[in-house]
Amino acid sequence: MKLQKTTFKPGDRVRLKDFDTRETSGLAKEESYPIADGDTHIIGDLAYKLYAENDRALLIVLQGTDTAGKDGAIRHIMRCVNAQATEVIPFKKPSSEELDHDFLWRVHKKIPATGNIGIFNRSHYEDVLVVRVHDLVSRREWQSRYQRINEFEKLLTGSGVTILKFFLHISKEEQRERLQARLDNPNKRWKFSKADLQKRALWDNYQAAYVDALTKCNTRHAPWHVVCADRKWHRNLVIGRIVRRTLEKMNPQFPPPEEDLDGITFE
Ligand code: AMP
Ligand code: MG
Repeated sequence: MKLQKTTFKPGDRVRLKDFDTRETSGLAKEESYPIADGDTHIIGDLAYKLYAENDRALLIVLQGTDTAGKDGAIRHIMRCVNAQATEVIPFKKPSSEELDHDFLWRVHKKIPATGNIGIFNRSHYEDVLVVRVHDLVSRREWQSRYQRINEFEKLLTGSGVTILKFFLHISKEEQRERLQARLDNPNKRWKFSKADLQKRALWDNYQAAYVDALTKCNTRHAPWHVVCADRKWHRNLVIGRIVRRTLEKMNPQFPPPEEDLDGITFE
C-alpha cells in the first residue's frame, strides 16, 4: 500500500493543485477499513505506553475549512485511546480576555501535558486565516505572526512535544454537498451556521491564506501534511497511518518498575 504523499519541501511554496482532493491512494473504501482499524488499535497501544512513560507529548493540529472533517478525524484517531490520556481542544472566537493577550497566550495553556495526545480542532493558525481574511487585525500584525508561530512551535518541540499538523483538503464542490446535507438532515442542522456561508463566499481568499500558512510554517520541526479529504475514509486512513508512524518513531517505553519486586507474593 502506498498512501498519497502528504508533505512538501520546507521552503517550497505548497501547490494545492498537486493534491487531488478526491485521491484514493489506489484503494477502495472497503479495503481501507481493516487497515485503518488496525492502525487505530496500534495507536491505542502506543498511546498507553506514552501515558505510562509520562515524559513527552504529541500535539495534533487539525485545520481545514468548514465541513472539511475535523470532527470526524478526531473521532477516528481517538477511537482506541484511553480518555484519560487525551485532550481535545476546540478553538473558537477568542474571548475578550484572550484578545487582551498575545494570540499565542490561550494556545500555550492548552498544549498537551506529558504522557498525553492533544488534538487541536482549529488552532493558532486561525490567527493567520480567519483573522487575515476578515481583517480582524492589521496586515502588519498578521504578517509578523508566521515567524512567531515557527518560533513557538520550535519552543514546544524543544520541550518534548512532537507536533503533527494536518490540513484537510476538500474541494469547493464537496463543501457544497456537505453544507447542503447539513441543511437537509434535521440531525445535522445543529452544525450549520449562517456564518459558514459568508466564509464560503470568501473561498478563494481562504485558500490563499491557507497556502501562505502552509508555506511559511512548513518547518522541519513541525511539518504540514496535506490530507486529501473529499473521501472521509481516505482522510481517516491517511491521518491514522501518519499518527501511528509518528508514535512508532517516538517509541515510548514503560518506565522501569520499582526494584526488588520479584520476590513479592500475595497471601
Ligand atoms: P466551529 O469550529 O465550527 O465550532 O467554529 C469556530 C469558529 O471560531 C470558526 O468560525 C473559527 O474561524 C472561529 N475562530 C477560531 N479561532 C479564531 C480566532 N483566533 N479569531 C477569530 N475567530 C476564530
Ligand atoms: Mg462550524
